[in-house]
Amino acid sequence: MSPSADVEAKRMSYTVDLEQGLVSGASSQEASTQAPPAPEAQTTSETSESQIQPMAAQADVAPEPDIHWQEFTIKSGDTLSTLFRKAGFNDGLMLSVIHGDGEADKLQRLYAGEDIRFGVNSAGELVAIELQRSLLESLKIARTEDGFLGETVVREPEARPAFAAGVIDGSLYLSARDAGLNDRLTMELAGIFGWDIDFVYDVRKGDSFEVVYEELYIDGEKFDTGRILSARFINRGGEDNLALLYTDANGESDYYSPPDGKSMRKAFLRVPINARVSSPFNLQRRHPVLDVVRPHEGTDYAAPPGTPPIKAAGSGRVKFAGWKGGYGRTVVLQHGDNITTLYAHMSRLGKGIKNGTRVKQGETIGYVGSSGMVTGPPHLHYEFRINGAPRNSRTVKLPPDAKPVPDSEMARFQKFTEQRLAQFNVFRESNQQLALASDN
Ligand SMILES: [Zn+2]
Repeated sequence: MSPSADVEAKRMSYTVDLEQGLVSGASSQEASTQAPPAPEAQTTSETSESQIQPMAAQADVAPEPDIHWQEFTIKSGDTLSTLFRKAGFNDGLMLSVIHGDGEADKLQRLYAGEDIRFGVNSAGELVAIELQRSLLESLKIARTEDGFLGETVVREPEARPAFAAGVIDGSLYLSARDAGLNDRLTMELAGIFGWDIDFVYDVRKGDSFEVVYEELYIDGEKFDTGRILSARFINRGGEDNLALLYTDANGESDYYSPPDGKSMRKAFLRVPINARVSSPFNLQRRHPVLDVVRPHEGTDYAAPPGTPPIKAAGSGRVKFAGWKGGYGRTVVLQHGDNITTLYAHMSRLGKGIKNGTRVKQGETIGYVGSSGMVTGPPHLHYEFRINGAPRNSRTVKLPPDAKPVPDSEMARFQKFTEQRLAQFNVFRESNQQLALASDN
């Protein structure tokens, strides 16, 4: 047996193992899908004349062997009328099609790049038209006894689980790309762990990740990737972060960490201090002395210096702690990948608060003061920014309250977790053995 044949054989047997592994313990939809038969000669539909039933029609309509199809790819400048004429039909017939029932009139909206097929029976009559809008969507019009009837058909792609794993060398981005993840999945991965891990600052050489994600197939051909189903990030220190996409009994899906079912998303405090607002957020504010527009990009909370404590509005990482010009003694926190909060004019910082420190929501990060350029009484100046843009912290839509898996569903969640861990193991083993096989 040649080395390549050996690898091929191993790959085959793992695929089988994988499916058995998945089917045995799993009830979830994507785990038990079977590979459909390989697609057959599809390229022939490029030609304008063919006897082959279009691929897209197979899944939805019973094949009518005596329909003869003509297919055209719509170019800019084509009109429905010119297309009908190319297919050998006149405007009168075209009108009776678009005046048909259901969604038949939608045939008038054509876009360059779409494919249109005319189906003719053995008597030479137009009996069906299919307009392929995209890989998944088509408009199907059929002749009935009462005239033409149109219907939009949207096909559901088949989602099959796929696996990627890598060890970080430079950045998550590069390692994920090497592992075969596209940019969208990598961003999603960073987003899932974004409340716990800062992929710019926290990630070190030797950290590793594993991802089970969906590959989307139509007619047995992969055309896109779907959701991340489970993801794992292991720090060199051995800290194992695991996130599973779990759909609860109400049908809502979100990422949770086993075994306790905590949400991967962390909640935010609307107000970081127990004190009254002394100056609201106002991007049009006029400066009281200079009389120029001097936007107030935060909210001020006045309080006696030193008390009460200033709390981290959300869990995250200390991006900055120290003196920041007119802001005085300041802490900036990074939450997830796009939110920052800023706390200014402090009298002193909270214990252990310094650049890079990880903080939990509600943790004390400092105390009210009047450091920096302060007019009026001591206060906390608090800013909330999304992608760097100031937002009103009192009205901004905060990430939804992240509730854990409810107690009533914990048994279900535990079972789900077992299945997902087993899936990881099966993928990991086949991945390692494939790597060994290709080393030989
Ligand atoms: Zn202020």
